[in-house]
Amino acid sequence: MSDKNDNVRVRFAPSPTGALHIGGGHTALFNWLWARHNNGKFILRIEDTDLARSTKEYEQTIMSGMKWLGLDWDEGPDIGGDYGPYRQSERLEIYREYANKLVDEGKAYKDGEAIIFKVEPGQDISFNDIVYGQINVMSDGLKEQNSDKLKDIVIIKSDGMPTYNYAVVIDDHLMKMTHVIRGEDHISNTPKQILIYRALGWDVPEFAHLPMILGRDKKKLSKRHGATSIYEYRDMGYMPDSMFNFLALLGWSAGDDKEIFTRPQAAEWFELSRVTKKAAVFDFDKLNYINQEHLKALDPMVRLSMIKPFWIEAGLPVSEHDDKYLADALTLMAGRGRTAKEMAEFSDYFVSFEPVKARWTPEGLDKEKLNEFFAELFASSEWKAEALENIARNFITSHEGAKMKDYAMPLRFALTGMKVSPGIFEVAQLMGKDECEKRVKYFFG
Ligand code: GLU
Repeated sequence: MSDKNDNVRVRFAPSPTGALHIGGGHTALFNWLWARHNNGKFILRIEDTDLARSTKEYEQTIMSGMKWLGLDWDEGPDIGGDYGPYRQSERLEIYREYANKLVDEGKAYKDGEAIIFKVEPGQDISFNDIVYGQINVMSDGLKEQNSDKLKDIVIIKSDGMPTYNYAVVIDDHLMKMTHVIRGEDHISNTPKQILIYRALGWDVPEFAHLPMILGRDKKKLSKRHGATSIYEYRDMGYMPDSMFNFLALLGWSAGDDKEIFTRPQAAEWFELSRVTKKAAVFDFDKLNYINQEHLKALDPMVRLSMIKPFWIEAGLPVSEHDDKYLADALTLMAGRGRTAKEMAEFSDYFVSFEPVKARWTPEGLDKEKLNEFFAELFASSEWKAEALENIARNFITSHEGAKMKDYAMPLRFALTGMKVSPGIFEVAQLMGKDECEKRVKYFFG
């Protein structure tokens, strides 16, 4: 049993200095899951204090990446909310106000234009992470590099901008965050943030750090392992539902072998306490499997909308066909192709004869014998898979030594240009007699 708590407020706080990457998408998704599980709130905050590297374009890309994954937010820079503004660059006065308060109370000091937070020795800044468990740290450990001197924390830089460790505390407190869920690379920042919470007399939120994501070689996931931005996966033909499902399984399991699920199911089942600290491996085979399962389960018209862009990109005349025909073709194809892109490639012959011509030329075939077979097929009064198959079977039994594959394979090649396809008589039925006749005549006429 879970105790749901609709006071839960969590946030995703990206710096708009790049596209939405796998790691960022993963963090956003876990926050979203926790908010939705609890019927709480999911907040998007843009941490754009690095003015030189932050852009509005990246902010847009991150937001559209989140939308593509199906992660909607309840408060954010684009929609506002009660605790805005939601861009750090628009909160500079707030950071200044609390920094001055710390100076007035003797907890921070000025160094030129900069404001520095004093780290006092002997303080226990341990915390209990929901995922990593107890993490013991003393303030005495916060040392200058290669020195025994305690390292104070810059909170406002000489250019007037707040530092990450400071602004994050002010915002998480004022925005009433109950949980801070973020990548494990921030564990080492947490004790510094705790010192600032305490100095301001504020409660510390719960922390849950998410495991690192590794490539197959067990090294931290990076460009070397292939696509890193969420959009690259979209462009390769992975579907948002699958990407969501796959990312949710990095460091979390739904239990009971529940591997394929929808967003609402994941939100219902999600528990922070089930997140593991063991680094998660980004496994392409698993992503492919998950994507294939989602492709299979899709409503035919939705599946069509996923595949169409890839046919169009390949220059195929999609608009010459009605959607019903194309959707039926993809239903026949169900289970073939791991990505929408592959499925589009494997089924191009339904859209056009041109790729078939380009792929195949009949060689070493007895055209006369084949034409006898085709003549019987096309004489069929009914252009239905079952009827066609019966004709073929009768043909085989009434011709000494004839084998089904010697007739079915050339038919398959003429219609599809492929070695593998769905049942060829079903393909023929769907394509229609005229189209089949046209293709067969082209190769054997
Ligand atoms: N802007 C920080 C980052 O992108 C946020 C870290 C946090 O969630 O506290 O890493």
